[in-house]
Amino acid sequence: MHQFGQIEAYPSKFYNTNYIFPAGFISSRVFWSTENPQTTTRYFFSVANDEGIPRFHIRSSHFHCIENTIEAAWNALLTKLRQSGWKRLVPSSINGYSMFGLSLGPVMRHLELMPDATDCKGYDFRYIIPKGHTGPKKPRMNLTGCARTEPYNRERMRQLTDVSFAMSSAKAASSSSNPNPKPLAKKSRGAFAPPPMNDMASAMQYRQAKKIENDTIDVRHSKIHGWGLFAKRDIAKGEMIIEYMGQLIRTELCDAREAYYDRVNLGSYMFRIDDKFAVDATKMGGKARFVNHSCEPNCFSRIISAEGVSHIMIYAACDVTATNELVYDYKFPYEEGDLKVECRCGARTCTGFMN
Ligand SMILES: [Zn+2]
Repeated sequence: MHQFGQIEAYPSKFYNTNYIFPAGFISSRVFWSTENPQTTTRYFFSVANDEGIPRFHIRSSHFHCIENTIEAAWNALLTKLRQSGWKRLVPSSINGYSMFGLSLGPVMRHLELMPDATDCKGYDFRYIIPKGHTGPKKPRMNLTGCARTEPYNRERMRQLTDVSFAMSSAKAASSSSNPNPKPLAKKSRGAFAPPPMNDMASAMQYRQAKKIENDTIDVRHSKIHGWGLFAKRDIAKGEMIIEYMGQLIRTELCDAREAYYDRVNLGSYMFRIDDKFAVDATKMGGKARFVNHSCEPNCFSRIISAEGVSHIMIYAACDVTATNELVYDYKFPYEEGDLKVECRCGARTCTGFMN
């Protein structure tokens, strides 16, 4: 950040429902160079006031564009990069606002604290709720773009563990460690639970799944969110598909790791196995961490034991046709108010929220 500029609430062209972009705002970041896309260069992002009309500038030593919208400016830079031979895929979480830094929490908070921010009628305040303002009208957008990558939450992890309980209702019912019976009721919504397998059968399926993993699944862009996991071939109901891989850590370490990932701006991918251990897939994860959430899942997760080691496995809950996206229900605990996380799974039965 170089400068925040000055909020121009009148006319109301310097903000919209989700973002404030003050005239005089200047930020910079290092990104791929339009001159040589194999190298990086520093870009300056700024907002100017052209007789009441916002103009968005992106400038580097070899590139300069001025556009009327932030997305047009970002697209101009992308187009120039593509013309220069830049071939990288751009995650859907990166857009004009994120490139300018206007979607960063600390920046949004600072803008909301500026004296004229309260004059931005129709803007949904997220961090500083002015007097008489009812707060965001929409459910909270998770900052990392995907609820699965939201920072570790001990309560949430506890509920995730219940996924394994779903496979055995008797075990679930008698489990004293289950703090809340609600998620179990949710599972009875139709999640497929095959009969328990013995260790030897699990181990055989596990080895087979590993062997054909690359022929079974593919990671591609998803309509639900960012990257997703897709079936490369027809998968039969009950088939073991892929392991949720990562680094096995003690649950006590989860909080420290979460704080570290927050500091370095990384989303956390963690999955608790039991009271003692969790799998951290943030830095050492496999393809399974890209499985998106859906209110109408075609997969479920289950913890198995193979060769004396516990593994988190993703199974097909129904017959899955090749090219279909693999999705499962994250089974997040029920939340209310601004803790709600929007769901974009697109299923007919979508509740609109992941929690
Ligand atoms: Zn949904």
